[in-house]
Amino acid sequence: MNVPFVDLKAQYLSIKQPMDAAIADVIANTAFIGGKRVADFEAAFASYVGMPHCVSVANGTEAIEIALWAFGIGEGDEVIVPANSFIASSEAVTATGATVVFADSDPTTYTLNPEEFRQKITSRTKAVLPVHLYGHPADMDPILAIAHEHGVAVLEDASQAHGARYKGQMVGSIGNAATFSFYPGKNLGAYGDAGGIVFRDADIADRARLFANHGSRKKYIHEIEGRNSRLDGVQAAVLSVKLPHLDGWNAARRNHAKLYNELLAGIEGVTTPTTADWGEHVFHLYVIRTAERDDLIEFLSERGISTGIHYPISLPMTAAYAHFNHGIDDFPVANGQMRQLLSLPMYAELTEEMVRYVAVAIREWAAIEVAEN
Ligand SMILES: *Cc1c(COP(=O)(O)O)cnc(C)c1O
Repeated sequence: MNVPFVDLKAQYLSIKQPMDAAIADVIANTAFIGGKRVADFEAAFASYVGMPHCVSVANGTEAIEIALWAFGIGEGDEVIVPANSFIASSEAVTATGATVVFADSDPTTYTLNPEEFRQKITSRTKAVLPVHLYGHPADMDPILAIAHEHGVAVLEDASQAHGARYKGQMVGSIGNAATFSFYPGKNLGAYGDAGGIVFRDADIADRARLFANHGSRKKYIHEIEGRNSRLDGVQAAVLSVKLPHLDGWNAARRNHAKLYNELLAGIEGVTTPTTADWGEHVFHLYVIRTAERDDLIEFLSERGISTGIHYPISLPMTAAYAHFNHGIDDFPVANGQMRQLLSLPMYAELTEEMVRYVAVAIREWAAIEVAEN
């Protein structure tokens, strides 16, 4: 059997008719940039997340950069980012002129450790970027309390967690603002690059919208120098067709995760993901840990099972941040786990048969490991 890591085709086939019609409609109306479909999606997404304002942008990386800019963050400021994330989280900080300060992760949820965040705060800290990594919400209450105490803005990076909840509250509606990527493989994905920012404050949302559209509210009247970062009509139409399915797709992911958890329970040397009691996980990724990771990848690959690594190198140890001169001991949790993380196939359309096939293969591998040692 072949088990791909994700299967975007399977999802497309499940919504082919409304999707083809929505895309054809955009083309027939030549509504390529901006317009009603974009405004409608922004309204629907803001309402889904439970925030008053949504500004759509070109991708999830620029969403972070533009949100930080709208908060007035730039040169001379520091922004705290978890050591274990996708590079977009830190890249966007540097793009504003601000300085990235990394903080270590929590060993069980893999998200930002609030105490590590506290220790990295200086007089120059202006924002913190908790990432709801793999679809698991970061521990927002202590993060908010510490941020509030120090006057630090909280920007949630929710690019991997559309629809996840923290103590019953939708992620993205907890901090001052939140950013989302709609990259095709995300839980809510467009058919190209796309992103969005949700804001609590109308004036800050307005600044972001101005910046994302050449500093202009009226064509050719430029109040400031901005940037071209917009959602196009086709992507807005695609996202509008998909949004009503998001909760159902997330529920399917959670079911697959539950079955993986059951079937992989008690295997020596394999740690399955934990969901904190305050979290409702949406399993953008199903990440296990094992010391013999590379061996397991090869074993699964020989059986037609594709896997991924998120992420092979922690951000502080990545070549792009060599100038910080961080050592392996500076982030013991993230650096200690980076050689053990392994993401198993996970998407809504996985079948129970596929999940069982993957789990049986891992059990078989573990039994051989035990026999050999
Ligand atoms: C995908 C992702 C982004 C960036 O999104 P793009 O749309 O690819 O630019 C940012 N942060 C995290 C945590 C992501 O997973």
